[in-house]
Amino acid sequence: MTVAFISDLHLTPERPNSTILFEEFLRATEGIVEDLYILGDLFEYWIGDDAGEQLGHQRIEKALKQTTDRGTNIFFIHGNRDFLIGSDFANRTGCRILPDPTVIILGDNRVVLSHGDSLCTDDIEHQNARDQMLSSKWKVAFLDKSIEDRVHTAKQLRSHSEKSKQKKSMEIMDVTQAEVEKMIMEHQADIMIHGHTHRPGIHEFKLDSKRIKRYVLGDWYTQKSSLTYNNNTFLLKK
Ligand code: MN
Repeated sequence: MTVAFISDLHLTPERPNSTILFEEFLRATEGIVEDLYILGDLFEYWIGDDAGEQLGHQRIEKALKQTTDRGTNIFFIHGNRDFLIGSDFANRTGCRILPDPTVIILGDNRVVLSHGDSLCTDDIEHQNARDQMLSSKWKVAFLDKSIEDRVHTAKQLRSHSEKSKQKKSMEIMDVTQAEVEKMIMEHQADIMIHGHTHRPGIHEFKLDSKRIKRYVLGDWYTQKSSLTYNNNTFLLKK
């Protein structure tokens, strides 16, 4: 049986093609993929489980539910765009929410899974915004607003983040190697899988004489992108 990893689909009714690709991908998991890990930013933005329908995401929830109903386990780690996905979403879709990071065992490997934005510590502005929005005070106040107000705030946050991204160098927005190594050491992992940077690739390095591999997942703007594990072999399709 196969284990699959995806992230950064950024699903939104404004990019219907990505939703079609995702539905195709879920259908193709039948009888093949035992465990599917979604490592964050499944949605372009998520403003609360009560607003999924109004934002046009019921089609995606239905596809997830059909997939879990027929026996594929779907695990979800929050991204910076959909950190408000909660237990109602999990109940409706059958997905299980895992903390960031999470360690899983695959064959002889300890594999640490993360969305990846916490590794981008050179991007101080993102880290400050992240700390604020992950606080329960911010979440409670935000979820207490009307759906219209939340949509408005989410759009403001997005356009601010797009504007400031244009001013930042590519290095600032990539992961910081020291943070990667810290997370790997803390979890005694030999493999790391993450998304967020939209720079799919495989990075190999040595840490305390151990060979480490870091797999970066790609986005789904124009194509499917996934990492699969089967029979002790990883395959990255960007
Ligand atoms: Mn992200």
